Order: sequence, then structure tokens, then C-alpha cells
Amino acid sequence: MTTPVLMVVDEDAASLGTLDGTLRRRYGHDYRVISEASLATALGRLRELRAAGSPLAVVMVAATATAAPAAEFLAQARTIQPAAKRVLVVPRGGPGAPSLRVPVPLVRDRQAAVPLLRAIAHGMIDTYLPAPGAGRDEAFHRAVSELLEEWARDAAPAMPAVRIIAHQQSTRAHELRDLLARNGVPYVFHGAESADGQSRLQQAGQDGSILPVLVMYTGQVLADPPNEQIAALFGLASLPATTVDVAIVGAGPAGLSAAVYTASEGLSTLLLEREAIGGQAGSSSLIRNYLGFPRGISGASLATRAFEQAWSFGAIPSIAGPVTGLEPAAGGFTLRLTGGKASHARSVLVATGGSYRRLAAPGVDALLGAGVFYGATGSESTAFAGEHIFIVGAANSAGQAAVNLARYAQQVTIVVRGGSLAARMSQYLIDEITATPNIDVRTATQIAAAEGDGKLETLTLHDTKTGSTQIVPASALVVLIGAEPQTGWLPPQIVRDEHGFILTGNDLPQDGDPAASWTQPRPPLPLETSMPGVFSAGDARHGSIKRVASAVGEGSIAATQMYQYLQKLARRS
Ligand SMILES: Cc1cc2nc3c(=O)[nH]c(=O)nc-3n(C[C@H](O)[C@H](O)[C@H](O)COP(=O)(O)OP(=O)(O)OC[C@H]3O[C@@H](n4cnc5c(N)ncnc54)[C@H](O)[C@@H]3O)c2cc1C
Repeated sequence: MTTPVLMVVDEDAASLGTLDGTLRRRYGHDYRVISEASLATALGRLRELRAAGSPLAVVMVAATATAAPAAEFLAQARTIQPAAKRVLVVPRGGPGAPSLRVPVPLVRDRQAAVPLLRAIAHGMIDTYLPAPGAGRDEAFHRAVSELLEEWARDAAPAMPAVRIIAHQQSTRAHELRDLLARNGVPYVFHGAESADGQSRLQQAGQDGSILPVLVMYTGQVLADPPNEQIAALFGLASLPATTVDVAIVGAGPAGLSAAVYTASEGLSTLLLEREAIGGQAGSSSLIRNYLGFPRGISGASLATRAFEQAWSFGAIPSIAGPVTGLEPAAGGFTLRLTGGKASHARSVLVATGGSYRRLAAPGVDALLGAGVFYGATGSESTAFAGEHIFIVGAANSAGQAAVNLARYAQQVTIVVRGGSLAARMSQYLIDEITATPNIDVRTATQIAAAEGDGKLETLTLHDTKTGSTQIVPASALVVLIGAEPQTGWLPPQIVRDEHGFILTGNDLPQDGDPAASWTQPRPPLPLETSMPGVFSAGDARHGSIKRVASAVGEGSIAATQMYQYLQKLARRS
């Protein structure tokens, strides 16, 4: 493979020299460091690199007086080399200033920081870094190494665990790539049409009649294997023969957190996941509002770290297809899995989360995080000051977001498919929207397309009454069209609300249908479901806050309650 490139751009010769030297000393052996003194020449260089097939790992641009042109450049860089990590290097407070992780000059001068904060919120950059000092700057290198790790994992792993050979457009190959990426397995893809792909098929003793072909790092060759077989090869499909203390269904943030805490308390813990660790969070390219990661963390990184942590405390992971049933059994519960398999546990946590309904308009997925957002928006509010934001959705969450964003935005437009907001939104919110001059509502309208060069620029609106379309400038599109809980597999004894979210604790009906409500003499623990000993945490739970931090928090609370439950059970027996 061609040596990957680290590019630095700085108009100031002295700081360009420092940046170039810092990178060359540490990474010069594995990467080609290219320095440019102007944004215009750097743009040309990016195009040359792409034409030559040279992979760009990281591009860093120094923000001098204002971050805006540098951020614009980095937004364009995304369209030329989409896999590259884009970094804005911000001042560190002049020569001789100590090496700090926080950009002190920008913290002091809030106004100067606005273009940077805006660039982050618009997805124009991946992160910012305070400029390195002249000596060893380990804080800078730690951040660069993390970026290189993320780039290598997504774009070019040096030591792939799996090689996939398949047709470029193969749906099954796409599924496999997604599965491996979300489970943190480094892989390389080879197009079956290419000379390289053909020679790899030949080396593997395959004629290409069955694709995709997977070549494992051990040399083992598999022709279109089922997901369970792949999980088994990585040791991720075995089920314990004995009854475990805790079975957790779902390895999203709530399930992973619960696994860390139950396993660290010494409870035998089985973590059952149908497809990939990390859940919805695992599919997020950058989670910016999770405590402790000021520059954000990719969902895949957060998931693999949490998974490793749970494993290191002794949790047993099994990613061998969905749990399809749950029933009380002697000494606890039986969990039914696909292929007639079963597992037994003294207590169960249902952390199967939900899935956001996605907007199926062309261009929307490609601009995710670069102006298009699902759900949580509070953290982005100030970043869209003075701009035009579109919100899709007609329920209270959309109304609340509109009112909140209108405090900062120049204009907020709520796009609604139906004829009015009245059907699904509370009247107090409708009143507030009506009284807010910079919110308008477009009824009988759908988003037909989203477009932009590296970041959202325009939306195509389709008027379903007249059939006409209109292209409008847009800085952000916030999609709030609801999430569906993954709880259809549960038995009827586990009471859910009218949308399928699981009721727990005080929310459980205390009277009414005795078969479907709490029947124990003791009150339910706060995260316990209507089936004593079965708990629920995270997005699948009625009333939960749909956030990574909330799911993690609930997972840890559920772990404590399961521990208490099991201790009482042990005392009684
Ligand atoms: C694109 C995107 C971006 C987001 N960005 C942010 C953000 O920046 N900040 C933030 O705070 N929140 C964000 N969220 C919301 C956040 O990801 C969720 O609130 C969080 O993941 C919920 O965690 P959970 O563990 O409850 O459920 P989930 O993450 O949904 O995980 C549930 C897991 O259960 C598994 N599962 C389901 N059914 C079964 C079954 N029958 N058997 C076995 N396994 C099963 C699923 O495969 C999944 O892995 C984002 C969501 C999305 C979709």
C-alpha cells in the first residue's frame, strides 16, 4: 500500500516548521508528511494526492486570525478525501506558553472561539487541537494517535483480521462490512472485479462462483458464511452451559454499562447481542455530548472500549443472533435464541433499545453529522446562531427543539407531513410556536432531498398538496420522527406502553389486569419490569431519556438493583 499522508497547512512559516517537525519526528517512518503554506496550494495538492491514489490520513490546518477560511477548506477536504481526519490547529497562547489541552486563548476570548465552535457543530472539522509546543508535546501526540487509530480502523487497517472479496455493489458484502466495522474488527475489502481481487480469490483457492469470500487472519477461507459463524470464529458465539446470575439482552450503551457493573461486582454475566456491540450509539460517527470526551468520540470507539472493559471484568459476550423469547423457569429464566438454542439466568436485563425512524430522502445519510442530526440537538443550539434550521417532526420533541433552537437561530422551519401540528403536539407548545416570530410551520410538506458540498447547504421541499418542489438554503436539518422500541419479542407478561416501551417501577399498573401488572407483595424496584427479576434500562424503557449518558447511567443503576434482587433471592433460598 502507498504510504499514507499527513498534511499540514499553515501560512505562518515558523509555526508551519514546528508542526511539520513535530509530525516528522514522531510519524515520519510510517507516514509521508507534506507541508503547505497556503490553503489554495493545499487544495490543489489534495486533488493531486487523490488522483495518484495516495491515501490522506490526517489534514491539519492552522487557524490564525479567524478559523472560518481554514474550516471552509477542511469542509472541502472532506469531499476530496472523505476518509481523512480533519483537524483545525488553534493557537496555544504564543511562544513559550505551556502545553495545555484546552485552547486557553479561545477560552478567554469567547468571540474568537465562535467560528471554531460553529465549524465543529457543522461537521466541517473532526476535531481541533492546540498547536504543539517546540519540545515533546505528549498531549498533542495522544490526540494525533487517536485520530490515526480511527482513520486506520475505518480506511486502511495495517493488520486486517479479515479480507473480504466481493462485488463492489454486493448487498451482502455491505452487510458484512458494516457488521465487522461495528464490532471493531479491522478488515480490508477487495473488489472481485479488480486484478487484486482476482489474484486473492486464486490464492484462496476460490473460483468466485460464491461471493463474498472471507479470508481470515489465520488463513481460513469462508465462502459467504452466516454471521453466527463469523462471530464463532472470534469466540463471540459461545453460551455458558450453566445458569448465570445475569443475562443482559442488548449490547448498546445501557447493556454494556450494566455488564461492566454486574461483572465487576462478581456476578456471572452473559451479554447477548443480535448483531453488533454499541447499539445505536455504535452507528454514530461522533458523540460529542458524552462526559469526558471534550472533542467527541466515535460510537465505534466508545463501544469497543466499553466491550473490552466488560470482558476484562469477566462478562461473557455472545453476538449470535437475536433473543427471540423469555420465560420464567426453575431458578430464574430461560432465554430463547435462534437455531433452537437457549440460555438460563437468575435475572435478566432487557436493554434492547430502539431504532430512530430514518428519513429516506436522497443525500440525508451522506450529510449525517455535517448539518443533519437525528434526535439530541441541545448541544448544537448555539452553533446555529443566526442561521436557518429545519426540523422534521410533529410531536412534542420537535416542538421543544424548535422553541429551543429559535432562541439562537435566525429562522426555524418545522416541516410536517400532515395538515397541522395539533394531532401530536401539546397545545402549550403549539401556542409557544405561534408566539415565536422566527418559527414557521410548513404543513403537507416532505423533505425530498438534502444537498451540500461537505456540509448541508440546501434542502428540496416537496409540497404534497400541490405537487410542487422548492430548493431552499439550509444550515441544519434536525430529524425528530420518533424511535421504535425493540421489544416485540417479549412475552405479554412484560407490560409495555401503547408504543411498546417497557414499563418499570412506579410506572407499572398497580391494579387492573392481574396477569399484566405487579403481583408481588413487595414493591417493584425502580427499573424492574412487571415480571419480577426482569429489569429494563435505556431507550427501550418507558420514560427514558434517549441519550448515551442516560442509557449508561440506567445500565449502572439496573446492575445495582439486580445485585440487590439476587442477594435477597439468595437469602430466601
Ligand atoms: C445516528 C445516531 C446518533 C446518535 N447520537 C447521539 C449523540 O450524539 N449523543 C447522545 O447522547 N445520543 C445519541 N444518540 C442516541 C443514543 O445512541 C441512544 O440513546 C443510545 O444508544 C441508547 O442506548 P441503549 O443501550 O438503550 O439502546 P441501543 O443503543 O438501541 O442498543 C440496543 C442493542 O440491543 C440490541 N438488540 C435489540 N433487540 C435485540 C434482541 N432481540 N436480541 C439481542 N439483541 C437485541 C440491538 O442490536 C442494539 O445493539 C444517537 C442515535 C443515533 C441513531
